[in-house]
Amino acid sequence: MAKVLNSKEFSTFNFMRFLIQRPAIFVLLISLVSFSQSPQPPFPVKRTESAETWRRDGWNYISNTKNLIERKGIAKNVILFLGDGMGISTITASRIFEGQTKGESGEENLLSFEEFPYRALSKTYSANQQTSDSAPTMSAIMTGVKTNEGTLSVDQGIVRGDYRTVTGRETKTLFEYSEEAGKSTGLVSTARLTHATPAACYAHTADRNWESDSDIKTWRPEAFDAHFPDIAKQFVEFKFGDGIDVAFSGGRSKFFPRTTKDPEYPDQHGERLDGRDLTAEWLKQHKNSAYVWNKRQFDAIDPRSVKRALGLFEPSFMKFEHDRPSDPAGEPSLSEMTSKAIDILSQNKKGYFLMVEGGRIDMAHHDGNAYRALTDTIAFSDAIRTAVGKVDLNNTLIIVTADHSHTFFIQGYPVRGNNILGLVRQTNERGQLEPDYVHDALGMPFTTLGYANGRGYEGATNLLPAGPKLCCSEPSTIKPLDRARFDLSKVDTTDPNYLQEADIPLKNETHGGEDVAIFATGVDSYLVHGTMEENWIYFVMADAMKLGK
Ligand SMILES: [Zn+2]
Repeated sequence: MAKVLNSKEFSTFNFMRFLIQRPAIFVLLISLVSFSQSPQPPFPVKRTESAETWRRDGWNYISNTKNLIERKGIAKNVILFLGDGMGISTITASRIFEGQTKGESGEENLLSFEEFPYRALSKTYSANQQTSDSAPTMSAIMTGVKTNEGTLSVDQGIVRGDYRTVTGRETKTLFEYSEEAGKSTGLVSTARLTHATPAACYAHTADRNWESDSDIKTWRPEAFDAHFPDIAKQFVEFKFGDGIDVAFSGGRSKFFPRTTKDPEYPDQHGERLDGRDLTAEWLKQHKNSAYVWNKRQFDAIDPRSVKRALGLFEPSFMKFEHDRPSDPAGEPSLSEMTSKAIDILSQNKKGYFLMVEGGRIDMAHHDGNAYRALTDTIAFSDAIRTAVGKVDLNNTLIIVTADHSHTFFIQGYPVRGNNILGLVRQTNERGQLEPDYVHDALGMPFTTLGYANGRGYEGATNLLPAGPKLCCSEPSTIKPLDRARFDLSKVDTTDPNYLQEADIPLKNETHGGEDVAIFATGVDSYLVHGTMEENWIYFVMADAMKLGK
């Protein structure tokens, strides 16, 4: 409309006269404009609801809770599901999104692990930071000891980046205890095998970035010169028991020499400077071992004959769930990897420890892209459902948690069933759905989901006339200026590539510092309770397996 009114052919006055003389065109134009802007209707509440529905649900909750059996005993197996960056707002939004993909309003939906009987809050600060990254947080969960930012399974006396401070500061991981006790161990992750979360299970290092020897050379040449072992090397040279039995993830380039071409992307190559092919070394350690890098080879693994399996499906991270169908060589889903890992590990009569990471929920959030964060969370939930269906909860403990949160928020007063990725629509004082989206003080609509910081910044505050906004000024002092916010009224905010708005411009959206949730089911899951320090998760798992005292 604005373009038509500003064009040279029509002055505003002439245009209005033109329209008034032709009422049919006027009506058509108005309906066209309102059609192009017509707000999305909410998803319907499918069940019939009344006061009785809410009372019945409440009494069901009470009787189910009273009938809960505290399964006490020894956990032969433990499965730890780690949703990287899966804060509570991510769980809420993913739950609604999943419900809405089934055509429901979504709020009443539950992700698989939300039906677990025990829950707690986890305090995620590290030994030296209020808000943490994945390295000290996963170290806390795997070793029972909180440590410093950026370091893996060492105590807080470590100096980040100083390889000389590692020896003597290693904190023993549950993978090490499990292997020592004759159990099998497995890692599944959509991130790189050498990325912080999986690495905290088996590596001890002064910097999470030391994934290959060439990484060490880049970050700390003196550590490279001193031959400090990189994370990939520590994986292959894992000294406890018979070594790690299963690993399915990304991160191939860390295991191959520079001279080796990548099999899936011929223009890429390995990155090791020591010339070692760590996958070949890993295969040589035991018979009945398999190394695979694509879906077809993965499917061919027979868990009855293959005792150890290493699958590295990408040079770096595996694909986001949304992009997985476009992978050239095919990638197994998180659920398929979890299932195959359980099949292989459960051959061991002494049991197993399995860690499964939804590794890219975090990365989608860092990009400011809620769509992929939510779809990866749903894939994570599917993997958990698969695991619950395969194990005996009388001898297996399953824990689901996150290492830290993100600055991801759910805002406004959207009506029940409002598209979780959409613009906010709400009801008026008479309880009726407003015909249009809610508008902010600048007269523009906004989405339910957003970030406190990151790439979705569009420049509100720096364009306000009086500089930074001060507390308590009247909203009327905010004048609508060009581009103060991007006008979203014609933007499809449900597009998978849409980046939600952010308040503060940052290249990478940051982690959030509030507590995350812990969910538990199976033997000894009742130990997950109250507000816990993140490192106490270790003690729950260690006590359940009677290891790590
Ligand atoms: Zn992160």
